[in-house]
Amino acid sequence: MSNAARSTAEDLDAVVVGAGPNGLAAAVTLARAGLRVRVYERADQPGGGAATRELTLPGYHHDVCSAVHPMAFESRFFREFGLRDRVRFVTPEVSFAHPLDGGRAAIAHHDLGRTRDELGRDGPAYERLMRPLVERSTAVAEFTGGSLLRVPRDPATAVAFGLRALEQGSPLWNARFRDEAAPAMLTGVSAHTILSQPSVTAAGAGLALHAYAHARGWPIPVGGSQAIIDAMVDDLRAHGGELVLDHEVTSLRELPRARVTLLDVTPRALVRMAGEAMPPGYRRALEQFRYGGGVAKVDFALSEPVPWTEPDVRGAGTVHVGGTRPEIAAAENDVNRGRLPDRPYVLVSQPSLFDRGRAPAGNHVLWTYTHVPAGSAVDRSEAVIRQIERFAPGFRDTILATSSRSAVEVERHNPNYPGGDIAAGAPTLWQMLRRPVLSSDPWRTPMPGVYLASASTSPGPGVHGLAGWFAARSALRHSFGTRALPDLSPRD
Ligand SMILES: Cc1cc2nc3c(=O)[nH]c(=O)nc-3n(C[C@H](O)[C@H](O)[C@H](O)COP(=O)(O)OP(=O)(O)OC[C@H]3O[C@@H](n4cnc5c(N)ncnc54)[C@H](O)[C@@H]3O)c2cc1C
Repeated sequence: MSNAARSTAEDLDAVVVGAGPNGLAAAVTLARAGLRVRVYERADQPGGGAATRELTLPGYHHDVCSAVHPMAFESRFFREFGLRDRVRFVTPEVSFAHPLDGGRAAIAHHDLGRTRDELGRDGPAYERLMRPLVERSTAVAEFTGGSLLRVPRDPATAVAFGLRALEQGSPLWNARFRDEAAPAMLTGVSAHTILSQPSVTAAGAGLALHAYAHARGWPIPVGGSQAIIDAMVDDLRAHGGELVLDHEVTSLRELPRARVTLLDVTPRALVRMAGEAMPPGYRRALEQFRYGGGVAKVDFALSEPVPWTEPDVRGAGTVHVGGTRPEIAAAENDVNRGRLPDRPYVLVSQPSLFDRGRAPAGNHVLWTYTHVPAGSAVDRSEAVIRQIERFAPGFRDTILATSSRSAVEVERHNPNYPGGDIAAGAPTLWQMLRRPVLSSDPWRTPMPGVYLASASTSPGPGVHGLAGWFAARSALRHSFGTRALPDLSPRD
């Protein structure tokens, strides 16, 4: 008999909808607090944005969404959970690389000093920008990893971070640099946000990710992102929690009775699920929450590694493709104006370089995605191949199979990404303060016992589990009357 069939509705303390990293972080936290928890997931496997599947050919294990995990070692939830003791990670010495025309490239080594040395005359300026953040990366993660409305615990780091974000998010972003490489590298990371360039929040997100790249690196889980999810599901089950797959929840009314409900869904989905039960003022606030640009995803099975012209790019965990800072800014600004760029910005990772089990011997998996206007139905595989060919001639000849998903298909696969918006809500400055409402406890809704736990809440997108962890903490405090944090470590 399955766990789900064994327990009755009356047994439950908490229901969680959605088994993404945030839903599972919430479920694990509540189960560790001794509560009876059941998770409902619409897909046939848990993971949401952290699932791994054979998308192209048998034996080729592709990350369906996230592949590289800058927050795996920095997230306070994952540190409490002891993720590093549960999942094997490989941390590439080159956190990310940024090829430029003419066989040149900017290389972000794990080691900041080496990165400085290779950036030539812009090296010292890059180091001055980054070093205070790298040395205080945990404080940066603390400051950016919660509601931005809280008073920061380390104001000096918050000020150092804020001033740099203002500079790199303004038209003065090139003032400290003389060459192309360092600015290209910075924009290659801040462009992860799918925002117009320059922008303060894009710069802030980019600087935090840069700091992690030089502090603890950008790790890749052995076995794919699914390994992170499997560790969370194992812990949930070990503490009496249940996971029900292939079960889409369409209304809060259909859920079994429980003291709390935590939802790893968007505000838009919550409005639909709650119906008349939602107070009109809160509904209006959620209806004002805006979704941003989308992504088109292209995965490849390859007969050999990508033949990047610049040898150092070949060992990078992530490669940002798109050329110089002005080129990437133009491509991202096109996307934000609803246009498909001719020369798009493309994120690339080849996890099989570091984790040989992802593909049959000698062969490789390649993970790519590119930004597109929200709701685009266009297949971008040819545009992605052309951009990679620009810096890796001969790439096309290594392709054995391709799996392509337009932004519309990304949403069809997971409704948490409306129009293909993988941030589950545009991470503009206003929406990072108000995520999804202006409150120091944005996870708690005015509906008794109902909490929002997804990336649409603070601290926003990424695989860190923090939104779920904060939502669970809010539920423990307000619905169960405890401020005590359950021990999440693997020992228990
Ligand atoms: C292509 C792509 C690449 C990315 N790359 C990275 C990366 O490299 N690194 C990184 O850190 N982040 C990356 N991200 C972002 C990251 O995956 C997300 O921010 C993160 O997964 C959000 O976690 P979540 O739990 O809030 O939501 P999700 O992971 O989206 O999980 C939500 C879950 O809820 C389920 N669900 C939704 N509605 C219902 C319902 N009504 N009933 C039942 N179940 C429901 C969904 O099926 C899904 O499993 C990427 C995302 C995408 C799509």
